[in-house]
Formats: sequence, structure tokens, C-alpha cells
Amino acid sequence: METTFIFVKPDGVQRGLVGEILNRFERKGLQVVGAKMLRVDEDLAGKHYAEHEGKPFYPGLIKFITSSPIMAFAIRGVDAVTVSRTLIGATNGRKADPGTIRGDFGLSGGFNMIHGSDSIESANRELALWFPEGTLEYDKSSNLWTYDPS
Ligand code: UDP
Repeated sequence: METTFIFVKPDGVQRGLVGEILNRFERKGLQVVGAKMLRVDEDLAGKHYAEHEGKPFYPGLIKFITSSPIMAFAIRGVDAVTVSRTLIGATNGRKADPGTIRGDFGLSGGFNMIHGSDSIESANRELALWFPEGTLEYDKSSNLWTYDPS
């Protein structure tokens, strides 16, 4: 089992897509082990996107992420990082495959509705940053019928 970090970006919240997006993770069988709505400040945005500092799109990205509330989730499951990135799709909504979140709902490279950690290392770093209080531990009974025992 892995835990990954996702958040619905300001455009996704403003467009009323939080439920639609979360539904895709839940119906896939993934477990929500943390959830919060918050307005991101420049400090948190800068720490989260530190790897992009200096790139041409960085100032616009920080302005976008801090412009309106977001909803953050911790998501748990077998290979949760990779499975979540597959559900999310390619960065640019115009190029993302149909069936993915970005492919189904987006037409932008920047306003792409959702973030998902791109590796286990990123997930651990981002979970520590966004959920310093930790995530929840609880049994999800449907896991017995979601994963085969082998
Ligand atoms: N982004 C952008 N322009 C670009 C590349 C990225 O505005 O040319 C934004 C976009 O919102 C993206 C975020 O910066 O989701 C982080 O970029 P990354 O390459 O990590 O994409 P992701 O992992 O989110 O697909």
C-alpha cells in the first residue's frame, strides 16, 4: 500500500468539479485517508512547487494556486502514486487522453484542475508538507473485494 497526495486546484473548485474528481478516485477503489479545504499562501505554494522555481511559468503558477481555495486529499492504495497519475492524465488538457480527468474536463496546460504526486518520494515530501498532522489509519472493508489476496 502507498499513500499519495492530490489536490483539486482553484479552477477545479471554482468549476464545481471536486465531487466529480473525487468520485473517480473512490470508484477506482482508492481510499481517502485525509481531506481538507484551504486557501494556499505563497509560502506553501513556493515549497510545494520548489522544483519549478525559475521556470517561465512559475510566477503564473504561484498566482494561480494562491488565487482561490483548493481541496487536498491523501489517497491510499496499491501503487496509489502511479494509479493516481494515470487517472489524472497528461499535464495539458488538450493533449490528455479521453477518460482521464484532464482529458475529460480540461483545455489548458496551466489550469489543469488537479495535482498528483509524481513519485513515492514526492508523495512523502508533499504529504509531510500538506498533512503535517498525519493521515488517517482505518480499515476499508471493500478492500477485501478490490484486491485479490495473491
Ligand atoms: N504548468 C504550466 N505551464 C507549463 C508546465 C506546467 O502552467 O508549461 C503548471 C501546470 O499547472 C502543472 C504544474 O505547473 O500542473 C506543475 O507542472 P508539472 O510539470 O509538475 O506537471 P504535472 O505533474 O502537474 O502534470
